[in-house]
Amino acid sequence: PKPLAGRIALVTGAASGIGKAIATRLAAEGSCVVIADLDLEKAQAAAAELGGTDVAVGIQANVTDEAQVQAAVDAALLAFGGLDIVINNAGLSLSKSLLETTVADWDLQHNVMAKGSFLVSRAAARVLIDQKLGGDIVYISSKNSVFAGPNNIAYSATKADQAHQVRLLAAELGEYGVKVNGINPDGVVRGSGIFAGGWGAKRAAVYGVPEEELGKYYAQRTLLKREVLPENVANAVFVLCASDLSHTTGLHIPVDAGVAAA
Ligand code: NAD
Repeated sequence: PKPLAGRIALVTGAASGIGKAIATRLAAEGSCVVIADLDLEKAQAAAAELGGTDVAVGIQANVTDEAQVQAAVDAALLAFGGLDIVINNAGLSLSKSLLETTVADWDLQHNVMAKGSFLVSRAAARVLIDQKLGGDIVYISSKNSVFAGPNNIAYSATKADQAHQVRLLAAELGEYGVKVNGINPDGVVRGSGIFAGGWGAKRAAVYGVPEEELGKYYAQRTLLKREVLPENVANAVFVLCASDLSHTTGLHIPVDAGVAAA
C-alpha cells in the first residue's frame, strides 16, 4: 500500500504554490485531501486535477473566519470520514518596512497567519483528540520566523507567532499522539502567488536583479546552489507525516537549500 493510504488531510491555501504541491504529494501517497482556499474556483480546479471527489474536494474557506474554518474541518469528516493530517499553509506577504506598515496591514498579516492557523489547529485538534488516532499538524512557517530580513516586519512577526504555536501545541497535544511540526521554506519563487503578486518585484528591486532572475539569484546564495521549489516543501511534509519520524514533535525543518545555515 502507499505510505499514506487511507489518511485524510486538510491543506489550507492549497489552490496555489506550496499548498497545491503539498496536496498533490499527499494525494499521490494515498491520502484524501480537502483543498481549502479563499479562491473557490482555483480550489475546485486543483481538486479536479488530483482525480476528483474520491481523492480531493476543493472548498472556499477564509482561515480568518471561525465558521468557515469549522466548515473546512467538517468537509473532511463529511467527504472522507475523518481527519489525520492538517497543514497550516494559507498565507500572504505585504512585504513592507516598519514605516510603510499600516495598522490594517499588521492586522491582515496576523489575522491570516497567526489567528488563521490558531483557528484551524483548534478546530482540527478537537477532532484529532476525539478520534484517538493521533495525527499530524504541520505549519508552513518561514525562515523569516527566525532570521530578520528587511521590509517584512508584519509578515515575519506573524511567522514567529506560528513557530511558537508549533512548540505550544506540540506540548499540549503530545499526550494525544498528535505531532506538531513546522517547515521553514525560503526563496520558493516558482509557482508562488506571493512572489507573482508583488513580493517578487519588490525583492528583485531590493537585490538589484531582474524579477525573472530572482529564482536564480536566491539559488546562488544558498549553500547547495539550488532553487527551492514547492515540491521540495511537500517532500518535507511527506517525511514528517509518512516516515518513521514517529518521535519528532515541536521541530522546524528548514527547506531553504541551506540559507539559514550559511
Ligand atoms: P501562494 O500565494 O501561491 O499560496 C498561498 C495561498 O493561500 C493562495 O492560494 C491564497 O489564495 C491562500 N490564502 C491567502 N489568504 C487566505 C485566507 N485568508 N484563507 C484561506 N486561504 C488564503 O504562496 P506560497 O508561496 O505558496 O505560500 C504558501 C505559504 O508558504 C505561506 O504561508 C507563505 O508565507 C509560506 N512561505 C512561502 C515562502 C516562499 O518562498 N514562497 C517562504 C516561506 C514561507
